[in-house]
Amino acid sequence: MFAPVPKPWIMGIAPYVPGRSKTDDGRKVVKLSSNENPLGTAPEARAAFAAAANDLERYPDASAAVLREAIGARYGLDPARIIYGTGSDEVLHLVAGAYAGPGDEVIFVRYGFAVYEIAARRVGATPVVAPDKDYATDVDAILAAVTPATKVVYIANPNNPTGTFAGRDEIARLHAGLPRDVMLVIDQAYGEYIESGDDDGALELAKTQANVIVTRTFSKIYGLAAERIGWGYGSAEAVEAMHRIRMPFNLTTAGQGAALAALEAQDFVEASRVHNAEWRAWLTAEVGKLGNAGLRAVPSMCNFVLVLFEGPVSAETAYKGLMDAGYIVRWLPGQGLPHGLRISIGTAEETQGVMAALREIVERG
Ligand SMILES: *Cc1c(COP(=O)(O)O)cnc(C)c1O
Repeated sequence: MFAPVPKPWIMGIAPYVPGRSKTDDGRKVVKLSSNENPLGTAPEARAAFAAAANDLERYPDASAAVLREAIGARYGLDPARIIYGTGSDEVLHLVAGAYAGPGDEVIFVRYGFAVYEIAARRVGATPVVAPDKDYATDVDAILAAVTPATKVVYIANPNNPTGTFAGRDEIARLHAGLPRDVMLVIDQAYGEYIESGDDDGALELAKTQANVIVTRTFSKIYGLAAERIGWGYGSAEAVEAMHRIRMPFNLTTAGQGAALAALEAQDFVEASRVHNAEWRAWLTAEVGKLGNAGLRAVPSMCNFVLVLFEGPVSAETAYKGLMDAGYIVRWLPGQGLPHGLRISIGTAEETQGVMAALREIVERG
């Protein structure tokens, strides 16, 4: 019997694995596996979401005009050059869709965000992995991977799942070293967690360079992961190309309203940033105290810490032990990190709790 056959490049995709929220036996536990905001969502954003219940029969504003204006005002950008997506994940896919196809190459770093590979394969392009430099982005390795077939380079800055950050000079050097016809995508999903003095200059580059697109999200510090709102900034030409393949009405009315309110609630954003900085530093220091057991925290600029297990206790043992203790973190063997656990920063209580459980597992051996 004949049956329709999916494209071989689609069958080459390893499906995205989301962070878990339940144990194998279905117990609900503290979820520190998806880098969500432990402080929740600004009350103003919740109220805006609820208000959207009055307009359910109408299509949303397809142009997301009010939200684009507000994003433009906050970040000093031209609203006409803002593309938006069902999460920044959609924007990442739009770039591949517009600029890459069969025969083309798409570069990302070894310990990069899983969506880049999926986006590349989805359009039939060939993924190319650039080696890391002690888990961080290695600009020279990326530049060395460029060939005449390269069409897109994706980097997250700071990076997930490592938390590492490439500074302004490194980003400038990466851009300067790329051919002008290669699109450089700088994914700033964690951009708001960066201290202002450490700006990587990506948005400035995107303002003037035709081959730079920056992506941002409302899923992380803004606490709106459920609503799937992301955006990107690029040249007028790039944005126009991506609009052609974007789903019509891809941002819901409730999502646009909630994002708009979240953007205005900057007190909440600041409180989230301060909370994160405090507990990330604490968790990093506490993991450091387990150095003699082979544990090491990769220095992070994000709302999570990647803990490496290089001693007798394996990441897998710790992952299972933490699950038994009531904490789900992210173990990433599928991303080449069988020896690492990514732990999202939780509330004070959750962060202290997961650390206490981890300490006990390590001491038990
Ligand atoms: C979480 C995350 C995103 C985006 O998520 P959306 O919810 O789709 O906006 C993008 N890039 C990185 C590196 C992330 O960690």
